[in-house]
Amino acid sequence: MAISTKEELVKGKMNEKSAQTLKVDLGEISDPNDSIITDNSEILGFNSNTTSQTQTKLENKSQAQSLHGPFDLPRIERAVREILLAIGEDPDREGLVGTPNRVARMYEEIFAGLHQNPSEELNCAFSEDYTGIVMVKDIEFYSMCEHHILPIHGKAHIAYLPGESGKVTGISKLARLVEGFAKRPQLQERLTQQVAETLYQTLDANGVMVLIEANHLCMSMRGVKKSDANTTTIMTLGKFKEDSNLQNQFFKMLDKNA
Ligand SMILES: [Zn+2]
Repeated sequence: MAISTKEELVKGKMNEKSAQTLKVDLGEISDPNDSIITDNSEILGFNSNTTSQTQTKLENKSQAQSLHGPFDLPRIERAVREILLAIGEDPDREGLVGTPNRVARMYEEIFAGLHQNPSEELNCAFSEDYTGIVMVKDIEFYSMCEHHILPIHGKAHIAYLPGESGKVTGISKLARLVEGFAKRPQLQERLTQQVAETLYQTLDANGVMVLIEANHLCMSMRGVKKSDANTTTIMTLGKFKEDSNLQNQFFKMLDKNA
């Protein structure tokens, strides 16, 4: 499977300083369980099995919960109450009494992507003769880091080259695609990969390039507390992977009116 290399990540849009910042931040974090940040190669390379593993897990999970609908709200409520007790709080005091229920309903919303198939968002593709780059910048998203269950907030920039069939999709569909994958316990590199591959396959595109930049609250409010640390991930597929001129065009379009 095509993956973006370290060289691809560091060149182009990222200037030397931000590349260094990223590297330092990655190196300083010492939590050995934190594969997103302890191993520099981990964040730059993509595990080709990630997508299929995730899908298998989801299928099992849906089956297990099918009697209760996709979200077992009472179970979330019980768990949140347990956490409040475990940190030494009184879940029955006035301010907290409604919290487990609020959190359960919030989880239903922010993890809604677990029970969606984001590729369906691209189904209403239409055919055009256009063969140039289609690019959508600054797609804002919120996700949740699966290592700490803390928010990830960022922007996705997506470009693709329509394939021989000329299939293109509505601009808003790309935003929905990002949202569908973001509203899950996530890793930024997996999000990047899932968005790129789904677009590439569903539209039969000639090439896809996705750049995601995001701030991880698990890095800014705890641990190394680098509040301004931005993590950038890039994935190129098809012609965008092969052709550095196309990549440069992507970065130029990204900078314009920035
Ligand atoms: Zn995290």
